[in-house]
Amino acid sequence: MNKRGMAIVTGGSKGIGRAVAIQLASDGYDIAFCYRSDSNAAGSVEKEISRLGVGCFHEKCDVSDLDAVKSFVAAAEAELGDTVVLVNSAGIVRDNPMVLLSAEHWNEVIDTNLTGTFNLCRTVVFGLMKRRCGAIVNISSVAGVFGNATQANYSAAKSGIHGLSRSLAKEVAGYGVRVNVVAPGFIETDMTSGMPEKKLAAILEKIPMKVVGQPEHVSGLVSFLVSGRASYITGQVIQVDGGIVL
Ligand code: NAD
Repeated sequence: MNKRGMAIVTGGSKGIGRAVAIQLASDGYDIAFCYRSDSNAAGSVEKEISRLGVGCFHEKCDVSDLDAVKSFVAAAEAELGDTVVLVNSAGIVRDNPMVLLSAEHWNEVIDTNLTGTFNLCRTVVFGLMKRRCGAIVNISSVAGVFGNATQANYSAAKSGIHGLSRSLAKEVAGYGVRVNVVAPGFIETDMTSGMPEKKLAAILEKIPMKVVGQPEHVSGLVSFLVSGRASYITGQVIQVDGGIVL
């Protein structure tokens, strides 16, 4: 298999990030991923990646902490070489209607989803510009496109990712670096598990395809966007959502 260089995936231990890490490993990238706390899940992702014959590095790293992100990227590059791809998938929700939304939950969601994405982009972008190649994909959400009741914090963070990504795409296009956003709809992961049946039925009602998405629906698009087949695509927000209308 042709080695393609290193892809960094945040939130790679679970859900969408896990599917992205495994897909990019099967595309031939060495994989460095970080996660918040679930070491056992990270270990099982490492096993799957190693079976694919590429390098794998992983570490606990809170993406909202810029110093921790810098250390993680430095350690990953020391182990696997220069970063060529970055996928920001780490994310959390803390849902509540605005009248009940605490400042703490506002900050936590902005810090992880939006500032975390900034921290990774800021840390790797100069290297990508210097080497005049690379691709970044930031994972947002349809909530960032349409807004969603009880998710003002999450929707604001995800809309912020759209602005960050489009602006960065314009800054770095001349250096051969592309930046795109994938905005998933309802995807079956830990983040969406435990939803009451009534709420799930209401969501399915809004999805014309009448099925919930799987992490692999998202990872397939990420794989395409970082590849040469997408070499003329940058600054886009692409939804993977079964046609959902919020
Ligand atoms: P998940 O809960 O299954 O996995 C989240 C991952 O992020 C885990 O690996 C976790 O360790 C990591 N993480 C959380 N906080 C972190 C932090 N501070 N630092 C480092 N890592 C951290 O979630 P998921 O459903 O796979 O979601 C992945 C991304 O997709 C998120 O950005 C989420 O907002 C977005 N998304 C998910 C859905 C969905 O329906 N599941 C829909 C739209 C968008």
